[in-house]
Amino acid sequence: MAETEVLIIGCGIAGATTALRLARNPQRRIAIITRAADPHESNTLYAQGGIIGRGLEDDPEILLNDIFTAGAGVSSPSAARILAEEGPQLLHEILEGTAAVKFDADAGGRPLWGKEAAHSRRRILHVGDGTGRALMEGLIAALRHCPNVTIETEATGVDLITFPHHSRDPLDNYRPIACHGAYMFNRQQRTVHRYLAAATVLATGGLGRIYRNTTNPIGARGDGLAMANRAGARIINAEYVQFHPTALAAPGAEGLLISEAVRGEGGVLLTPTGRAFMADYAPEWKDLAPRDVVARAIHHEMETHGYSHVLLDIASQLPATTIRNRFPNIYNQCLAAGIDITREAIPVVPAAHYFCGGVLVDEWGRSSINSLYAVGEISCTGVHGANRLASTSLLEGLVWGARAAANIEETLSCSVTVSRPGFTDVPPWDESGLIAEPDPALIQGDMQTIQNIMWHYVGLVRNGERLSRAIRELRHLWNEIETFYRTTKLSDGLIGLRNAIEVALLITQAAQHNRQSRGCHFRQDSVSFEGDRLI
Ligand SMILES: Cc1cc2nc3c(=O)[nH]c(=O)nc-3n(C[C@H](O)[C@H](O)[C@H](O)COP(=O)(O)OP(=O)(O)OC[C@H]3O[C@@H](n4cnc5c(N)ncnc54)[C@H](O)[C@@H]3O)c2cc1C
Repeated sequence: MAETEVLIIGCGIAGATTALRLARNPQRRIAIITRAADPHESNTLYAQGGIIGRGLEDDPEILLNDIFTAGAGVSSPSAARILAEEGPQLLHEILEGTAAVKFDADAGGRPLWGKEAAHSRRRILHVGDGTGRALMEGLIAALRHCPNVTIETEATGVDLITFPHHSRDPLDNYRPIACHGAYMFNRQQRTVHRYLAAATVLATGGLGRIYRNTTNPIGARGDGLAMANRAGARIINAEYVQFHPTALAAPGAEGLLISEAVRGEGGVLLTPTGRAFMADYAPEWKDLAPRDVVARAIHHEMETHGYSHVLLDIASQLPATTIRNRFPNIYNQCLAAGIDITREAIPVVPAAHYFCGGVLVDEWGRSSINSLYAVGEISCTGVHGANRLASTSLLEGLVWGARAAANIEETLSCSVTVSRPGFTDVPPWDESGLIAEPDPALIQGDMQTIQNIMWHYVGLVRNGERLSRAIRELRHLWNEIETFYRTTKLSDGLIGLRNAIEVALLITQAAQHNRQSRGCHFRQDSVSFEGDRLI
């Protein structure tokens, strides 16, 4: 049992930023929980390419235009404007200031702006190709200096505590749905606790792990999205799962991201026979076309010619020392997998990378449930539309983390007299009668089944038949997993499995419902619309 003013579930850039901004008020009590044993562990940690700043000869209108073009007509104009106008200043204040991150710069201190696909300007700030690690180290170090923030690791959020759902007062049925914290699983003790809070922030990141091929680390299984869905929050754009065009295709190192910055610095995609093919699909953009276009082009080449992968050639575009200096992590990790990227082309395939949909939030990160906020990849602010522009994700987590904190601070400082539920009002977690231990073979087997269904039927190229099949198989599995969950003692793996099947169904149903191909949702049986960008 624990109580705090603000409970933040997740400790990537979005959760950490929310906490840091709230912590500026020394009276505020803030608790962060993360399922990982190391608070740095998150999708943020693995980010390579960088984060958008205000580049040379750049302005918010130019960035807005790039976001809209990549987003295929679905980006929210007001949300994208917030990102474009406020992002660079917050980056300077929070990342360069509070978190003391040092982005790559020349001897005179001028930023070394990177270029990425679908950006019309060089505007990406980076720390080598390990930007995410530098950000997480800076953010966590800054949090450690905040006496009013606690970080609890190996603490998995299980379900949100919402009224009327968990209320003992029948009259709560007549009141708007509201969140009062979360049930939290302590992985060491293997017990579930109530964590009560005046405001709860979901910052649990993405869900790439529900796909067989993904760039995402192990914890990205859609936990927060499933929790929000069970609580009745509004979720939108779930069909827009972004596939990154270039994940390493080498045995034992599958899924390692080969950053878009590699193409930004001149890398060229080739078939295994050595033919550069992107001009056939996107004559204007070629290798720097939006991600959805490049990923589908690769998929098309692989399917048509039976290739198991395509190649990304940077070796013949840049000197070896430049490659090693600009991409030290990619260079070392590929070398460990037996590929010297200064001498040979890199075998790559597309992989699930980013969730553009999520918990619908407003400009302050507020969800459709009172006192529940969502920030970062789990949320849908509308910025990314149907296809995210490279390097906007970290910035979105930063901007909405700061905005959610501002709104929470304002709300809490105005509502000192409002009574909040206490422990007597919220039932404890009930595990009575559960004795069966979770069988890891079942958890792993079911997870792999979900990943295969999603990869084959709800992947880069979809159609009604594949999606119907996926829904039938996922529903069957959902029944099995729900029975498993209700009759077995909890574990982090079982919590993740239950969430994975829930979000897999959400995505598939949204994909079935939307018959228009847009951005990263591509249907072979698409109903056409004006401005189609199909290949
Ligand atoms: C390999 C890779 C490279 C990328 N490169 C870039 C890039 O260069 N630029 C860019 O803008 N974007 C990039 N992205 C995307 C970007 O990194 C993510 O979208 C962003 O970091 C998400 O931040 P977040 O704070 O929302 O979530 P995350 O950083 O994923 O943090 C989620 C947090 O929630 C915790 N959590 C999850 N479930 C639970 C639970 N049930 N209970 C408690 N805690 C939980 C996790 O442990 C973690 O602390 C990349 C992504 C990947 C995978």
